[in-house]
Amino acid sequence: MMQEPLRIAGLIEHAAKWHADTEIVTRLVEGGIHRYTYAAAHLRSQQLANALKALGVQWGDRVGTLAWNTHRHFELYYGVSGMGAVCHTINPRLFPEQLVYIINHAEDRLIFFDLTFLPLVEKLAPHCPLVEGWILLTDRAHMPEATTLPGGVRCYEDLLAAQKAEFAWPVFDEHMASSLCYTSGTTDQPKGVLYSHRSTLLHSYAAALPDCFNCSARDVILPVVPMFHVNAWGIPYLAPMIGAKLVLPGPGLDAASLFELFENEGVTFSAGVPTIWFGLLTFMREKKARFSSLRQMIVGGASCPPALLKAFDEELGVTIRHAWGMTETSPLGTVCTLKPQQLSLSPDEQFAIQTKQGRVIFGVDMKIVDDEGQDLPHDGVAFGDLLVRGPFIVADYFRSGKLGELTPQGWFRTGDVATIDPAGFMQITDRSKDVIKSGGEWISSIELENLAVAHPAVAEAAVIGVPHSKWSERPLLVVVRRSGQEVSAEELLAFYEGKVASWWTPDAVEFVDQLPHTATGKLLKTQLRQDFADYTLG
Ligand code: ADP
Repeated sequence: MMQEPLRIAGLIEHAAKWHADTEIVTRLVEGGIHRYTYAAAHLRSQQLANALKALGVQWGDRVGTLAWNTHRHFELYYGVSGMGAVCHTINPRLFPEQLVYIINHAEDRLIFFDLTFLPLVEKLAPHCPLVEGWILLTDRAHMPEATTLPGGVRCYEDLLAAQKAEFAWPVFDEHMASSLCYTSGTTDQPKGVLYSHRSTLLHSYAAALPDCFNCSARDVILPVVPMFHVNAWGIPYLAPMIGAKLVLPGPGLDAASLFELFENEGVTFSAGVPTIWFGLLTFMREKKARFSSLRQMIVGGASCPPALLKAFDEELGVTIRHAWGMTETSPLGTVCTLKPQQLSLSPDEQFAIQTKQGRVIFGVDMKIVDDEGQDLPHDGVAFGDLLVRGPFIVADYFRSGKLGELTPQGWFRTGDVATIDPAGFMQITDRSKDVIKSGGEWISSIELENLAVAHPAVAEAAVIGVPHSKWSERPLLVVVRRSGQEVSAEELLAFYEGKVASWWTPDAVEFVDQLPHTATGKLLKTQLRQDFADYTLG
C-alpha cells in the first residue's frame, strides 16, 4: 500500500476538491450571517498558512485561539495544523489566572481572538510575555481605535489579504502534533492534551460510523459544543471528511438564535452539553415550536438526564444519543445506540439502556477495575475505575514533567467510576475522587445527588465523603434549598427510603446558600471538601 501519512490538511483538500460547493455558514460575532464554500475555506486556510509563515511560525510552534465557532476559527484549525504548527484552542470561560497559566505553559507564540474577548485579552496580555502577536479575528471596519495590548493588535482580514492563496501543504510524519487542548481542571491545574494528525484523523473516521454520529454528505451539522472544547468533539474535522454542510453558531448560543439557524439552514444534526438543550427545550415549549429538519443530537460532557432524552424524543421527535468522553479521549469514548437483540425489549427497557453512556467505538477499549487494579465483571452491577486505551487516547500530558500516567499495562485511568453490563454498555456512576468509600464498599455521589434534586424543595445538591472512625468515610449531603421552600434534614433523609440501599443514605444534611462551581459550571467538590474539612460523622 502507499505510504501516505494521515494529515489534517488532507481533510480540507478533499472537501475543496470533492464537495467544493458545500457551504459553511456562520453567525458572525460582528452580527449577520456569513456563507461560503469548502473551496473558499480552503483558499483562505492557505492564505492563513502563508501569513503564519511570514510571521515566523515554525513546525511544532503553538498558536492559540480564543474564539467562538466561526468560519475564521475553522480556517485556523486548518491553516495552523496544516502548515505544521499546533492549533491551541483556549477555553475563554476559564478563570483569568487559569488562562494565563495555560498560555504560558503552552508557550503560545501568537493568539487569535474574537472581538468578544478583547477586554479579556487586554487583561491577560501583561502576564503572557511569550506571546509575540495578538490578532483580532475581524475586518478593518471592526478594529478598535485604541488598545492596551503590548505591540498593538493585528487585523485578521488584513493579514489574509496580504497573502496569496497557494500553499503547498507540507507532508510530514502523521504522528506529528496538530492541536492542543487543556482540560478544564475540575480536580487539578489544567493539563494539556496534545493531539496528533493521526489521532485526529482516526477519531474522525470513528465519529462518522453509523453507531457513532451516523452523519453523511446529506447532513447539515451544527456543533453547539464550542470549538474551544475538545475540538467541538471533532465536528470541524468530520464535516469536511464526509462533505456535510457545516453551520457555525458564533456567539449566538441562546435558544432563539439556535432555533433560527436550525430552521433557516435545515440543520439535521447537532451536538452539545445537556444545559444547552434544556434551554432549547423550554424555548420550544413556550413557543409551541417544532423542528422541521433536526433528526438527531449527541448529548455528552455531563450525564444526560433521562427527562431530557424523553422530552426531545416524545415531544420534539429528535433522537438523543448519549455519549461519554473526555479531553483525553479526543473526546469520543462511548455512544449509546441499541443492539439488535434489544429492539424487542419494551419501550421502558429500551429507554433504561439509552440513558447509559453506551458502547465503545472502534479505536477505544475499556475495562473497570477495583482498588487493587483487578478486573471487575461486566455484570452491570459491579462498579470500579474506568480504564481506556487506544490510538486517540492520551499517553501523557503535554509537558507534565512526569511519566507514568498510564497503568503498567498501558491503560489510561479516566478518573471516572462506572459499570459495564453484559451487552457492553457502560454507565458512569461517579468520578473516582468523588466516590464515597464506606467500609470498603463504594457509594455513588451522583446517584445520591440525582435523588436529592428530585425533591421539590431542593435547587441543587452535592454529596461528599467525610471521615468516619468506623466506616472510614460516610456521605454528607449538602443542599441549596429552592427560594421560599422549607425542608428539614430529616425529611430529606426520609426521601431516600426505598430508593437506595439503607447504608447508602447520607448520615447528615447541611444547608448552604450556594455551592462552589468550576468555570465551566461543574460542581467544584475539591472546594466543598475543603469547606467541610473539619466535619466528621462519628
Ligand atoms: P474535565 O475533566 O476538566 O471536566 P472534560 O471536559 O474532559 O474536562 O470532562 C470529562 C469528564 O466529564 C469525564 O471524565 C466525565 O466525568 C464527564 N462526562 C463526560 N461525558 C459524560 C456523560 N455522558 N455522563 C457523565 N459524565 C460525563
